[in-house]
Amino acid sequence: MSVTVTLSLTPRQAADKRLHAALVARELRMREQDIALLRLVKRSVDARRGALKVNMTWEAFVDNEPMPEPLAFDYPSVAGKPEVVVVGAGPAGLFAALRLIENGIRPILLERGKDVVERGKDIAQIQRGRGLNPDSNYAFGEGGAGTFSDGKLFTRSKKRGDYNRALQRLVYHGASEEILYEAHPHIGSDRLPRIIADIRRQIVECGGEIHFSKRVTKICIKDGRVTGVEAGDDRIAARAVVLATGHSARDIYEMLAESGVRIEPKPFAMGVRIEHPQQLINRIQYHGSREAEYLPSASYSLVSQVGGRGVYSFCMCPGGFIVPAMTDASESVVNGMSPSHRNSPYANSGFVTEIRLSDFEHLRPQYGDLAGLAFQRELEQAARANAAGGATAPAQRVTDFVSGRASATLPSCSFVPGIVPSRLDEWMPQFMATRLREAIRVFDKRMHGYLTSEAVVVGVESRTSTPVRIPRDGQTLMHPDVEGLYPAGEGAGYAGGIISAALDGERIAEQIATYIK
Ligand SMILES: Cc1cc2nc3c(=O)[nH]c(=O)nc-3n(C[C@H](O)[C@H](O)[C@H](O)COP(=O)(O)OP(=O)(O)OC[C@H]3O[C@@H](n4cnc5c(N)ncnc54)[C@H](O)[C@@H]3O)c2cc1C
Repeated sequence: MSVTVTLSLTPRQAADKRLHAALVARELRMREQDIALLRLVKRSVDARRGALKVNMTWEAFVDNEPMPEPLAFDYPSVAGKPEVVVVGAGPAGLFAALRLIENGIRPILLERGKDVVERGKDIAQIQRGRGLNPDSNYAFGEGGAGTFSDGKLFTRSKKRGDYNRALQRLVYHGASEEILYEAHPHIGSDRLPRIIADIRRQIVECGGEIHFSKRVTKICIKDGRVTGVEAGDDRIAARAVVLATGHSARDIYEMLAESGVRIEPKPFAMGVRIEHPQQLINRIQYHGSREAEYLPSASYSLVSQVGGRGVYSFCMCPGGFIVPAMTDASESVVNGMSPSHRNSPYANSGFVTEIRLSDFEHLRPQYGDLAGLAFQRELEQAARANAAGGATAPAQRVTDFVSGRASATLPSCSFVPGIVPSRLDEWMPQFMATRLREAIRVFDKRMHGYLTSEAVVVGVESRTSTPVRIPRDGQTLMHPDVEGLYPAGEGAGYAGGIISAALDGERIAEQIATYIK
């Protein structure tokens, strides 16, 4: 039999695992040796009031019944089974492939980038300013955009069961069990590649296929039905195609628009990355408490309405690094990542404002449904034009950004290729700069010290979500005009983040199973 126990502990008590059994036993009024096993099921830090607390919930097994087995996944052989082409090996494509296998369907994955190991080498080249491979970078390659990231695993998904199962699946493929109980689970850029490689092993072992350096250039359609895809000179026939190419695959949107496949412009968000010393964020969030040394690097999440629009922090990376995430050398795009221990001296976060359809209406006559992409590209190219060579990025001290001054010098920053002083406040669209500035002032009232000359804004954070949606039918999840075409994940506009893209891939796979069989 198991009993659930929740205790509110000091950070020091929470950090000392040897104390936990005794504390739980005392709560249950029993002897420590009568607890056969303790399993931590939830942990969250409560820093809202003065005294820091860590809320911990355990399942305590208090007799000799065997522990429940960890969730096992049954992946059958799919050799000789019906085939489905999956374009893109990001979370949506990989989870779709695994779920297809569970449903007795053989996935054929086509990925424009390289496997995680080779991709890692291309990423190292970008960091050193030695060129950018447009098919193998922080956005493209095995594992998708989130592989070299913080690996935060949050989702707003209402279906808790599906979310837990997705986390269990990651544990099955090598993630730490900690993700099952942390309130804000994350994996870390040092651990993600191994998990991705294990998922690939599983797919191949079951009889599926993964082809790298295979950039899909055309979706073949006849009489309103998918017949296959083309990747350069290769043609692969298929009755169903999962299109899980992410939001950086601009060529895919262009190809769809040129072939007359309906796409729709949508609102999105853009801004900058903001970076503070991690110690400063710890001091603010943990109220200068001495017990903070027992707690993980602090994070924050801020949101405000400025001039009738949302401005918010996004994808915060405590103890992390800012990374160059563009897919073309003519752009400067930044994003963030953290290692599993989140132990760099820097705290960075996306800091973005809503972009509405009306903001890029002027580009509609020239670019049609791709106007949002053109607007996004303009900002990214302006950022590159205002940086120096290689993968350097333009930057400004936060105090200078807010007061509209040039920065004579810049603080130290985690961005390896290097930052150069630039007037971001001048060259970005004024409606963005004004709102970001105002929001920094508002956030400084909530987190005293947030507005500081020790912090820096780096340009630009432009790939938070897609400016284009690929529509799909609410029931079948197929494109409404193309039978057998399944737009999936973030690039299609149905997910934002690793877990929600993965869950979307699973949903798509389940629908395909009813279509194919
Ligand atoms: C640096 C960084 C850090 C991030 N950190 C986090 C985080 O901590 N937590 C979080 O939830 N999210 C994070 N994200 C966002 C997250 O990575 C994405 O939301 C998620 O990966 C979307 O999944 P997806 O499968 O829909 O698309 P993607 O992950 O973008 O995958 C698309 C795949 O398709 C491939 N592809 C594209 N075009 C073609 C083509 N023509 N032919 C064949 N293949 C193609 C690409 O190479 C890519 O592998 C981060 C993103 C970045 C860039």
